[in-house]
Amino acid sequence: MGITREVFALDPNQASDWEIDACEYAPTDRDDLVASFDRMESSARAASRAAAAQWAAVADAVEHARTVPEVYLDSTAQDPRGTTSERELLERAIIKDVAMWLDLSVTAASAMATRAVTLRERLPRMWSEFSRQGVITAGSAAVLADVVKGMPSHLDADFENVMLAQGRGLPPAKLRRLAFATRERFEKLTRQERFDVAAEGRKVAFEPLADGMAWLGLYGRADVLLRAKARIDANAERLAAVDGEARTLDQLRADVAGDILCATGAPHEVVPTVFVTVPVLRLAGIRREDAEAAGVDPAIATDGAASLDGYGLIDDDTARRLFAKAPSFARIATDPFHGIRLQLDRSSRRPSQAQRNWLRLRYGTCAEGGCNRPAGRCDIDHTTDWQFDGPTNDANLAPICESGHTIKHKTQFRYERDPDFGLRITSPTGRERSTDPPPF
Ligand SMILES: [Zn+2]
Repeated sequence: MGITREVFALDPNQASDWEIDACEYAPTDRDDLVASFDRMESSARAASRAAAAQWAAVADAVEHARTVPEVYLDSTAQDPRGTTSERELLERAIIKDVAMWLDLSVTAASAMATRAVTLRERLPRMWSEFSRQGVITAGSAAVLADVVKGMPSHLDADFENVMLAQGRGLPPAKLRRLAFATRERFEKLTRQERFDVAAEGRKVAFEPLADGMAWLGLYGRADVLLRAKARIDANAERLAAVDGEARTLDQLRADVAGDILCATGAPHEVVPTVFVTVPVLRLAGIRREDAEAAGVDPAIATDGAASLDGYGLIDDDTARRLFAKAPSFARIATDPFHGIRLQLDRSSRRPSQAQRNWLRLRYGTCAEGGCNRPAGRCDIDHTTDWQFDGPTNDANLAPICESGHTIKHKTQFRYERDPDFGLRITSPTGRERSTDPPPF
């Protein structure tokens, strides 16, 4: 009943091979389906409008906060380094407050505020498509704002015309390519200028992954990286030719690259310390059955896994190997019953250094929520200042990055400790967030 059937002949000579059932649903079913796709589309538009409203609210709140600097800045306290201008400090404090209210990282809060202002002021027609019609997704809006941010503003109108004509309906990745190509065309940069700008962004990125693995990425000059790649390839191929070599070329390349990067270099080279923490029972290779027989709760005895600072949990074999013979790793044994430090190895005997190491391990990152700076690159801060009788112990020390440190000392954000060592921060507008160091 009600089933329609159409035949499409794509090639008149092969019509019989191309018979297609165009529709096997009753018309009412199809109408229902279209209705549900309609709902899908309208909810997507509503989501875009809601995202735009959030961006706008963030930008408005930031603008409002700038008019009342006394809410944020502490007129009596001194910047410990005297390097941050008041204006810069105010911006940082406001963004930190936004991040606390929205449970975002400071980076994400800052990006949201910047993108809203950029899009509203520089691409008003695109902003309207985002905020009123909802036909641009938040992802695409972010792409447009980011591309236009570094572009000279006299190109805005031309750039926007191209985006309106050609950018509609493109997913964010394609939109980004179109936007960059358009910007490049308008900016008329020479190859040299484009290279100079791009080369400023060179960096190394480390991404911890599951199962004891990670990615290490190197973004840099093509000529340098090509030489590096050729060196890795040549050595991997030489090893592959050795009789009995069972590793694949990919595995050999990874091993060769790892060896080259971890080898000791020139005499003046800084040899970094990487911390490995191993529960003593793991070191002893104690098994679940043995723990049970010894009257120890097996869950406690075997649950505490070894961990690598800056990465996370690692497998037992790797932990034992690093603990036993890797000289460039500072080794720390922990008591799995309480998760507390039993000893630092000889290379870290000085108490202040030991405390630093301990706090760095305990927190992993800056102790402030929303900040991911590695603890090793943070100051060890007295939550209650030394000059106000704050003790130099675990309960009063925490790693805080340079930016957070300045905010703590020169603004109206309040930093206190929770009984369980956590750090509690209260923003000038009353938002409170606690961060606990991750348990061992
Ligand atoms: Zn921080």
